[in-house]
Amino acid sequence: MSQVKIFCDFDGTITNSDNIISIMKKFAPPQWEKIKDDVLTERVSIQEGVGRMFSLLSTDLKEEIVSYILQTSKIRDGFDEFITYAKERGIPLYIVSGGIDFFVKPLLDGRIDEQFLYCNESDFSGASITITWPHSCDDQCRNACGCCKPSIIRQLATHQDFKIVIGDSITDLQAAKMADVIIARDFLIEKCEELELPYRPFATFHDVIEHIEQIVEVRA
Ligand code: MG
Ligand code: ZN
Repeated sequence: MSQVKIFCDFDGTITNSDNIISIMKKFAPPQWEKIKDDVLTERVSIQEGVGRMFSLLSTDLKEEIVSYILQTSKIRDGFDEFITYAKERGIPLYIVSGGIDFFVKPLLDGRIDEQFLYCNESDFSGASITITWPHSCDDQCRNACGCCKPSIIRQLATHQDFKIVIGDSITDLQAAKMADVIIARDFLIEKCEELELPYRPFATFHDVIEHIEQIVEVRA
């Protein structure tokens, strides 16, 4: 049976800005920028780039980073209403995030059940932060995504399911290519236009609810 399923990015989508970028801007030495540029232009894989960026940071910074993120990062308008909306409609809402557990979980603050949350994990046992990759690419993906959104979608949805992918960046592109509907902002819009992928733009989760409501109505 075909079911609507939502796959929603976290950084820059649920939050107003990208938390990895804001952590690096605040805490990393300048060489992080070159790594970021190499990721954005697809010269370096996301997994390698994110791993290298966090390896620039001392594990002693953990508490400071988490409190900085909790003070500065904002959840996008309408997100709580969106969670309620999806629950009422009986639509599974999966968070698939290239973010890292140690800031994703405090920011979500229990809003999403763990079984619906897919993100990277971290190891603070060494001198610098090590990212672990519990959701790395399956044998059908060669992108070294880190948290592999296409692999997760293959695990969680069938070909028949109607897949809605919500995102903002290059890290959502491979998942977006699998979507029946893409709801996009920022750089993902540019990529969708470049590749002629159909998308709907959003600024807040109130917009997202409207788009999904239209989609659900058309299917009903
Ligand atoms: Mg993002
Ligand atoms: Zn992948």
